Amino acid sequence: MRTSRYLLATLKENPVEAVVDSHRLMLRAGLIRQVASGIYNWLPTGLRVLSKVEAIIREEMNKKGAIEIAMPVVQPADLWRESGRYVKYGPELCRLKDRKQNEFVLGPTHEEVITALCRNEIKSARQLPMNLYQIQTKFRDEVRPRFGVMRGREFIMKDAYSFHVDHESLEQTYQDMYDAYTAIFTRLGLTFRAVEADTGSIGGNHSHEFQVLADAGEDTIAYSDESSYAANIEMAEALAPNEEREAPGAAYSKAPTPGCHTVDEAAAALGIPADKVLKSLVVRGETKEDGTHDLIMLCLRGNQELNEIKAGKIPSVADPIEFATEEEIAAFTGAHPGSLGPIDFKGRIIFDRAADKMSNFACGANEDGFHLINVNLDRDIPNYEVMDLRNVEEGDPSPDGKGKLHLRKGIEVGQVFMLGTKYSEAMGATVTDKNGQNIPMEMGCYGIGVTRVVAAAIEQHHDDKGIVWPEGMAPFQVGIIALGLGKSEAVKAEAEKLYEELEAMGVEVLYDDRDERAGVMFSDMELIGIPHVITIGAKGLDKGIVEYKNRRTLEKEEIKREDVLAALKQKLGRA
Ligand code: ATP
Ligand code: MG
Repeated sequence: MRTSRYLLATLKENPVEAVVDSHRLMLRAGLIRQVASGIYNWLPTGLRVLSKVEAIIREEMNKKGAIEIAMPVVQPADLWRESGRYVKYGPELCRLKDRKQNEFVLGPTHEEVITALCRNEIKSARQLPMNLYQIQTKFRDEVRPRFGVMRGREFIMKDAYSFHVDHESLEQTYQDMYDAYTAIFTRLGLTFRAVEADTGSIGGNHSHEFQVLADAGEDTIAYSDESSYAANIEMAEALAPNEEREAPGAAYSKAPTPGCHTVDEAAAALGIPADKVLKSLVVRGETKEDGTHDLIMLCLRGNQELNEIKAGKIPSVADPIEFATEEEIAAFTGAHPGSLGPIDFKGRIIFDRAADKMSNFACGANEDGFHLINVNLDRDIPNYEVMDLRNVEEGDPSPDGKGKLHLRKGIEVGQVFMLGTKYSEAMGATVTDKNGQNIPMEMGCYGIGVTRVVAAAIEQHHDDKGIVWPEGMAPFQVGIIALGLGKSEAVKAEAEKLYEELEAMGVEVLYDDRDERAGVMFSDMELIGIPHVITIGAKGLDKGIVEYKNRRTLEKEEIKREDVLAALKQKLGRA
């Protein structure tokens, strides 16, 4: 490719809208351009990278016997009503109507379409197992699209769906996909961890996420320093502290805490540490048949955080979690958030396992501007349940009993799910088993965020000059810079010749024939991250040499003109 005939689209300045490195570099290196919030053009250089990622994914999926298909982006709303997700998926699901007022959605994922396809096409258990995949555009109307293509609204996903006659067969394919993902992310040169994960709106009962370790990640993962235990913080169990609750002291009494709305403010006003103050949160119960809901109080140590995923899984608590409004709370307790507590709370009270060990603590008095001090469980609060409600913290014991937990940020690039019969049962996708019985098929589903992978790779692989692509992802393998092309016929002739020789060898070459200033051409090559760059200048040619520079090490060497092809072959691993 000649830069003069190409849409290079590199930018000199850092775009103000980019807050993470990958977004900044993807804009600056001319990989993407925003069209609307969370919606992007992929420019030629970006598309080349994307195609390489897709090719690796295809190869590894095909190796495991998965078969590629293509499903539509636009899907009938009725399929989503059948699965029960039309309402449940919420505002992330983009709903639309055609000219005849038929209702459709833009597919955020394809369980419904594939289940409808397979209930027609798969009739006999002899056809199973079957694993079908596609690489295709998804649309999710994300609340907060950000970080470029890392969290877009339109993005490309590889999604696979497997069908089975029994759970054992599902487990086998789940393991195959787990292995395929491990192979894919390893080949892509990413440092990642597979972690236990929540199943979210996709559902099912067993799941792993593949998390690329990077500070820009939006997820937090917890892993043990002594075992292979690793989980998304959403899932990581916080064990009950290995300590006895201290005996109650003096009876509780009321203390003024005017203007205090947070645990820290109350702790300061009372002159005690935050872990001696109870954090009391009020959430809604599930909506009942008559349209009403109960209010439920969740209590934690003041210095610890509620885990909303764990809370959402508590039976009869609304899932996803819904916090009660200030008005609701005031009507129910007589006080506002900031002054709430479990004493005389008229609803269900749930204490976190660590909060359950507190004694002689402070909590809101359910009266604005007041707290109670020297409060004790059982003595002052007779009815309460104890559950795991909080996020684990750095140094907590690992739930498998081995070692301590550490926390790292991760970017979720893939997730595998055992769905069981959630969709096949709801949508009537059955097969006849050997006993002649009609049974719903067991299903699994397996996603990779293809566009997000590119951003994640850049988060892990860049320096102050630009992108340093992992092997196999670079948009071009070799760059040619011709210095003073307009002034020297010899430079022009040699650059053209080398370009043609490399093209003939099937090497992907970016030939900078713009006759720009040397500095501009060098920095563009480094920004885009071309792994091997040959610079041809008049001075060198007089001595019969060209200059080679390696993008990763930034080391330079002089190579005799006649040795260039052999040297590049070796560097490209083709010798
Ligand atoms: P997240 O928790 O990041 O919102 P998710 O768990 O909802 O993602 P899945 O349904 O598991 O996503 O989709 C499979 C993969 O698609 C994810 O692992 C992720 O890599 C990618 N993905 C999901 N949402 C987005 C998005 N908004 N932009 C880019 N990639 C995405
Ligand atoms: Mg996911």
